[in-house]
Amino acid sequence: MRLHDAALAAGLDWSAGHLVDGRRVQPHGEREITVVSPRDGSVVGLLAAADRTDVDQAVRAARLAFEDGRWSRLPAARRGEILIRFADTVAAHAEELALRIAIEMGKPVREALDVELAAVAGCLRWYGQLSDKLADENPASPGDALALVTREPAGVVAAVVPWNFPLTMTAWKLGPALLAGNSVVLKPAEQTSFSALRLGELALAAGLPAGVLNVLPGFGPEAGEALGRHPDVDVLAFTGSVAVGRRFLGYAAESNGKRVWPELGGKSASVILPDADVAKAGRTTAWACFYNQGQMCSASSRMIVHRDVADEAIAAAVEEARRMRPADPLDADAPSGALVSEAHLARVLGHVRGALRDGATLAAGTAERFVPSEALVRGSYLAPVVLTGVTEKMSIAQEEVFGPVLSVLVVDSTDEAVRLANATPYGLAAGLWTRDLSTAHTVARRLKAGSVWVNCYEEGSMAMPFGGTGASGFGRDKSAHAIDKYTDLKSTWFQLEPR
Ligand code: NAP
Ligand code: MG
Repeated sequence: MRLHDAALAAGLDWSAGHLVDGRRVQPHGEREITVVSPRDGSVVGLLAAADRTDVDQAVRAARLAFEDGRWSRLPAARRGEILIRFADTVAAHAEELALRIAIEMGKPVREALDVELAAVAGCLRWYGQLSDKLADENPASPGDALALVTREPAGVVAAVVPWNFPLTMTAWKLGPALLAGNSVVLKPAEQTSFSALRLGELALAAGLPAGVLNVLPGFGPEAGEALGRHPDVDVLAFTGSVAVGRRFLGYAAESNGKRVWPELGGKSASVILPDADVAKAGRTTAWACFYNQGQMCSASSRMIVHRDVADEAIAAAVEEARRMRPADPLDADAPSGALVSEAHLARVLGHVRGALRDGATLAAGTAERFVPSEALVRGSYLAPVVLTGVTEKMSIAQEEVFGPVLSVLVVDSTDEAVRLANATPYGLAAGLWTRDLSTAHTVARRLKAGSVWVNCYEEGSMAMPFGGTGASGFGRDKSAHAIDKYTDLKSTWFQLEPR
């Protein structure tokens, strides 16, 4: 059976209002979001976009929920139980959510289910289980006093997220923000509004009190900016592009000085040294560039390979490009699916054509759209591209493509590899392939990146923070460190009566 048949037969409801104060409400905003499936170009549904008034109402609902303590003053262990039940509820509805994501943004439904939804449930459960394991601080103090350092929830958190891992990025914000006792207003990317609204409903079904999570579909420059400038939002957690992340820093500076946590783009390198398992390195580097149709902030979009092993690594990458050919995202065995939209496909193709004009060569793929079948002729597909002959100064070696386009840069020494790996404004992630223990440690330290993967790529656990340096921003999702973003430290000094 094809995975989607059962869910399609059950029928998904795509009608929607916004989710504010525990209810579906019709927004005031008059503009409409048209959600188009990049799978086949069909219209999935329409929904009204939030305007300034809608944002204001959602922030008010979140503030009220925060102040009356329905969530913020529950014992942390109780909040943890509800987060765990939220995780279980997501897991129970994973197939439906995966199907929505596949239709909305084009990733293979199997990947949405096995990777994205597993990550969402895993993240919520991880924070839920952390709830009764955190401790406050009791610094040394004189005998007639007691010093306490406690964590207080910040208050109202706004989360503005992208469409590429729409519910994973959301869960990375919700887990720590909710665990800490905050109320949240979520603005999903317009393309993935329906799955976000459904996630909000499942939170309510799991017992999250009304008003603690509000979901407000809308356009970035309207609803996103209104959240960024809102005087009653305490924290703005953002994942998305560098340009928009910097706007949020500006909105905050021009409004109430709220904390902004930007988690932005990347141009990550995978460095392959001559003593590596070259076939595996080439294959994995390509996979980690093409996965999710290349729409990954941490994509290994630059293969930096030593000349001695370049041919073998490129051959492995080309082979992987063939294997990752797009197919119908609703096929259970599709290795990759559609890019998010026609506009995005056009942007990615522009990058490829620019690279060819600059002198790069196609080792795999073409600078034309891919058509998986007659039925999907209006979908937004691109077969993975491997570009050789790329040099440091070309735009393709510097700019984030956010598509399945791998640039190969050949080097003659480890030092040159490190210098090139660090030669972009970004600093999100890096891969390193070597069998030498000392080289692994010394080179990993020299790579400018928030995450370094040695002899692998995209591995990790919820216990490890994820985020970048430089132009990639400075926010960190995942791990206990993420709780810092959504809490304030309070120092309380108790003066004791002399006995
Ligand atoms: P984006 O264009 O920056 O959009 C992200 C969010 O910001 C969306 O919800 C968008 O709303 C909103 N937005 C757009 N313009 C805005 C404005 N002027 N004011 C306020 N909000 C605004 O990014 P994207 O295209 O969705 O996602 C791709 C980017 O995300 C890539 O650069 C990728 O590297 C990055 N990313 C980073 C990470 C990480 O953890 N570091 C993870 C995933 C993705 P609408 O689009 O709905 O209008
Ligand atoms: Mg967008």
